Amino acid sequence: MAKSHYDFAIVGAGPAGSACANALLLEGASSVVLIDRARFPRDKICGDGIGPGVIAILEALELRHILDGHRRVTQMVMTSPLGGRMTLNDNEIRGQSPLGYVIRRTEFDHALMSAAAKRGCADRTGWTLEGAEYADGRWRLDLAESESGEPCSITADVLIGADGATSRVRRLLGQPFNHERHVSVSMRILAQTEPPFPPRQELNVAKELPIPGYAWNFSTGSGTVNVGFVCDTPTYKASGRHLREILKTYKGLLPDTLSYDDATRHSQILPLASQMPPLAYPKVQAALIGDAASMINPLTGEGIFYGMEAGLLLGRGLARAAQTREGRAQALIRYERVFRRTFTGHFRGNYYLRKLLERPGLFDRMLRAGARDPNLCCDCIEYMMGNESGVGRTPLYRLALRTMVA
Ligand SMILES: Cc1cc2nc3c(=O)[nH]c(=O)nc-3n(C[C@H](O)[C@H](O)[C@H](O)COP(=O)(O)OP(=O)(O)OC[C@H]3O[C@@H](n4cnc5c(N)ncnc54)[C@H](O)[C@@H]3O)c2cc1C
Repeated sequence: MAKSHYDFAIVGAGPAGSACANALLLEGASSVVLIDRARFPRDKICGDGIGPGVIAILEALELRHILDGHRRVTQMVMTSPLGGRMTLNDNEIRGQSPLGYVIRRTEFDHALMSAAAKRGCADRTGWTLEGAEYADGRWRLDLAESESGEPCSITADVLIGADGATSRVRRLLGQPFNHERHVSVSMRILAQTEPPFPPRQELNVAKELPIPGYAWNFSTGSGTVNVGFVCDTPTYKASGRHLREILKTYKGLLPDTLSYDDATRHSQILPLASQMPPLAYPKVQAALIGDAASMINPLTGEGIFYGMEAGLLLGRGLARAAQTREGRAQALIRYERVFRRTFTGHFRGNYYLRKLLERPGLFDRMLRAGARDPNLCCDCIEYMMGNESGVGRTPLYRLALRTMVA
């Protein structure tokens, strides 16, 4: 019979929740449950771009093999509505690479979740969190089997909310959702190509699409191309257009050799890190990670790296802490402090860069400067996407100066 009490209950088995579960188990925790309303493998609306910082996280989790068989991105292209075009090829990169992978989330998330299950995590995938209450020093979680609705309750000492962009745990902790100025809307569709495109990522700001906003086409290298569009909510509302129509316009700008699968066309919101809620709740022994805590880069829309880094940091800290209420409270506080110290400047810089690039002329200038100077091109992409060690360290003002003189 399944256990009914756990030391750590993680709601959401996406990259953030599964990274956290793996970190806890690797550091010696033995009583961890992963709850997810979906059964895995499951799809997640995403661009499928796995940033370079994820490599180090997978190494820390002893899961580097998840990348085996996938080809690293060899080229990144950005285009502006005024004709500017900047291309970074992997053979032009001197230091750490800002290029990562394009991997279907169905596969990536399943691999992470299965690794946690193999390490001894209790598997409650296929169960939805309906409600939760903290009383007498422990959490009571009310779950329902996602298909049949059959109810069940479990208890846990610590609750970790990794349940994505519309997090129920966040609401239960009394935190409102982001203001619409800090939420993007998006739509993506999958396509196939024969022969396959090489593994590459292309970001297009185009005059035919709402600005500020960008469209992307990311190729896995094995025949699948992820195509989509993202922009902030006020821009979308002001455009008066429907996401489906915007995506159709973008498809018209791409090669007609792409064969689209309409069943994979879905929309989703992105809560941006320009408005993050508190991450740690030591009094009630809880924390938020990943999209549940709005850990999405306000410029690029990337969130996998930040969510996994948060999961690793929190899982490690909790497992290494004294297993007392006080010990765990300290670990929760430390998690928030370290995460903010590492990423607040990075998120703020990307938010300002987004504001600057809302002017098509400036964006065009950056791309043209990057096209002339491969080092500047690499540093600009690193500023947005990070590198193998995490976030890029070139200050924004230096990038701006180099753009002006290039
Ligand atoms: C269109 C689009 C494109 C994107 N492209 C990229 C990209 O290319 N690269 C990148 O890095 N990021 C991208 N992102 C962001 C990225 O998808 C997220 O940041 C990432 O998935 C966050 O991981 P997570 O584990 O926090 O949440 P999720 O991956 O959303 O996982 C949350 C899990 O919680 C489960 N859940 C939710 N509610 C409940 C409940 N009540 N009970 C039980 N389980 C529940 C869900 O089933 C889900 O499996 C994109 C986002 C969108 C919308």
